[in-house]
Amino acid sequence: MPESHSTACLFETEGVRNPLDLLKRIYGYSTFRGQQQEVIEHVVAGGDAVVLFPTGAGKSLCFQIPALCRGGVGVVVSPLIALMRDQVEALKQLGVRAAALNSSLTREEAIAVRRSLSTGTLDLIYVTPERAVTDGFAEMIAGAEIALFAIDEAHCVSQWGHDFRPEYRGLGCLAERFPNVPRIALTATADPHTRADLIERLALGAARVFTSSFDRPNIAYEIVERDQPRQQLLRFLSRFKDASGIVYCLSRAKVEDTAEWLNTQGIRALPYHAGMDRALRDAHQDAFLKEENLCLVATVAFGMGIDKPDVRYVAHLDLPGSVEAYYQETGRAGRDGLPSEVWMAYGMADVIQRRRMIDEGGAPEEVKRIERAKLNSLLAICETAGCRRQAVLAHFGEAHPGGCGHCDTCLKPVETWDGTEAAIKALAAVYRTGERFGTGHLIDVLMGSVNEKTERFGHVDMPVFGAGKDLPARTWQSIFRQLLAAGLISVDHGAFGALKLEPEARSVFRRERQVLFRKDRPSSGKAARGQKATRERSDLAGSDLELFERLRSERLTIAREMDVPPYVVFPDATLIALAKRRPRDFDDLLGVPGIGETKRERYGQAFLAVIEAFEG
Ligand code: ADP
Ligand code: ZN
Repeated sequence: MPESHSTACLFETEGVRNPLDLLKRIYGYSTFRGQQQEVIEHVVAGGDAVVLFPTGAGKSLCFQIPALCRGGVGVVVSPLIALMRDQVEALKQLGVRAAALNSSLTREEAIAVRRSLSTGTLDLIYVTPERAVTDGFAEMIAGAEIALFAIDEAHCVSQWGHDFRPEYRGLGCLAERFPNVPRIALTATADPHTRADLIERLALGAARVFTSSFDRPNIAYEIVERDQPRQQLLRFLSRFKDASGIVYCLSRAKVEDTAEWLNTQGIRALPYHAGMDRALRDAHQDAFLKEENLCLVATVAFGMGIDKPDVRYVAHLDLPGSVEAYYQETGRAGRDGLPSEVWMAYGMADVIQRRRMIDEGGAPEEVKRIERAKLNSLLAICETAGCRRQAVLAHFGEAHPGGCGHCDTCLKPVETWDGTEAAIKALAAVYRTGERFGTGHLIDVLMGSVNEKTERFGHVDMPVFGAGKDLPARTWQSIFRQLLAAGLISVDHGAFGALKLEPEARSVFRRERQVLFRKDRPSSGKAARGQKATRERSDLAGSDLELFERLRSERLTIAREMDVPPYVVFPDATLIALAKRRPRDFDDLLGVPGIGETKRERYGQAFLAVIEAFEG
C-alpha cells in the first residue's frame, strides 16, 4: 500500500487532533452538518453510538473523524467489497491511511496491510463481517491499538430489513471481546422494526441513539399512471443532460430490452442483473461509477453498497414491493445533496403482478399477510392526492406538514371526484358476472361492447351491460386500479386474474362509504413546473456554467488517468463552488468546500490553471 509523504505529515507532526480542525484540513468543509459533531464527540469520548441518518446525511464522517482523533486504527465493518474499495480510495485521496482487508487482495497486498497494522501506520481498516469475527483477525489486531469499531449498513443484521446478511449476527460478540473499544453502528434504514432489532442483535442497548429526519429535501418525487411506458420514460430522461441515473425494472428480460431500446433512442444505457456474466456485470457497474452520462438499467440486484454520490435520477418502470424498498431505491439519488429526481410509472398490471408474487411465493400465510399490507401501503402512496413526501414520511412515523412543493402532487394538484356511483357500477359488474373475469372483459361489459365473449356468457342481457357508457374505457381502467389499491377488490390468480369482491365492498354497495377517486392526468410531454432545476445543475448560468463544464472535463481527464470515478477527485459541489468563486491562488482554494490540504496539494494547480485560462 503506497503511502505518500504528505500523508504522514498531515497527522503525525501536528499534535492536537481536534474534530473541527480535521474536518477543515482533511475534508475541506467548514462546519459540521446536523448532529455530526455530537456523534463525533460522543464516540471520541469512548461512548457507543447508533446513528440513524438518511442517505447523504454524512454518516461516514461520524466514524472516520473519531477514528482519526482517538489514535490507533478504526475497524470498519462493511458488507460489500465494492463499497470498501470506493471508501478506501476516497480516503486515500484525502490523505488518510486506509486499507481494506478482503478476499480480493493478493497475498502481497494482504501482507502489506498486516505490516502497516502492526507498525501502527494505518488510520482505518475496512473488513467484511465474516472476517471481523474470526480468530485470525482478532490475533491480527491483538497487538494494535484499536480506535473504534464502526458497523456500517448495520440493518444487515436484521431479518426484518431488506438486506439481511447472516454474517452480521456474529458481530454482537465484539462487545465482549473488546469491552473498552467504542462501537458505532450506522444505517439509513427508517423502519422502526429493523432499528430495534439491530440494537438488540449488536448488543447496543446501552448506546446513545442519534436519529434525524428521514426527509431527503433535494429529491423531487413523481409517480405517474402508466400509459405508454417507454415514451413516458424517454420524456423523463430527456430532463437530464450529462447526468447518470438508474432505471429499475422487475425482470431480467425487461432490463435487457429496456437498455437495448434506450440505446436506439440515443441514450447510453447498460443493463445490470444477477443473471449476467459476472465480469460483464462488474464492468457495467464500473462504467456507471466512472462515466458521467450513463443510464444503468437494473433489477434490484443493483444498488446496495453503491456510494456514487451524483446519481441524478432513479426511475421505476415497475412497482417495488414496499414503501421501504421504494424509499431505499429512490434514496440512491442525490447523495451529494444536489437536486435530483425520482420517477415511477405504475399501473394495474403492477398491482396484479405484485399480488401474484406474494400469493404464489413460498412464504407462510402470516408473512404473506404482512407483505400484502406492505404493498397496500405503497399503493396508497401511489394513489394519494396529497403530498407524496408527507405520505412517505408518515409511513416511517415522521410527521411532515405536507405541501413540500417538490413532488408531483404538490406541483400539480390532483383533482379528486366522488366516484361512489361509478364504484358501485364497477363492483356490480364484478359481482353480476360471477367474480370470474378480469378487467378487460369487465370494461367491455360496462361499456356495452357486443363481442363474442359478452354474448357467449349472456352478459349482454344483464342490467349492468352498458351501464358505464357515461365514462371512457380509460377511466374504468383507472377505477379498477384504484378499487384494487383501496382493497375493495382483489385478484384471484388461481382463476387467471379474475377480480373478486373483498368484504369491504359491501359498505360501498350499501352507500355507507363514499369513494373518492383521483382524476388521472393525461400524460403531457412537459416536465411539471419547477422541475427544470436538475438539468440546469443548481443555479449555475452563463459563464459560470461554461467554466463548470471546463472544470468537469479537467476532472474527467484526471479521473481517467488515475482510473477512479470523477467524484473521487472532487464532488460536483466543489466544481460548482470553484466556478462561482473563481479562486486565483493556492490560499483561496482552502475555503472551497471539499478541498482539504491533500487534495489542494494534488489537484489545486490543475484546476487553478483551468480557471486562469478561462478568465485570461
Ligand atoms: P451517508 O453515508 O450518510 O449516505 P456520506 O458520508 O457518503 O453520507 O456523505 C454524503 C456527502 O456529504 C459526501 O459527499 C460528504 O463528503 C458530504 N459531507 C459530509 N459531511 C459534510 C459536511 N459537514 N459538510 C459538507 N459536506 C459534507
Ligand atoms: Zn409534496
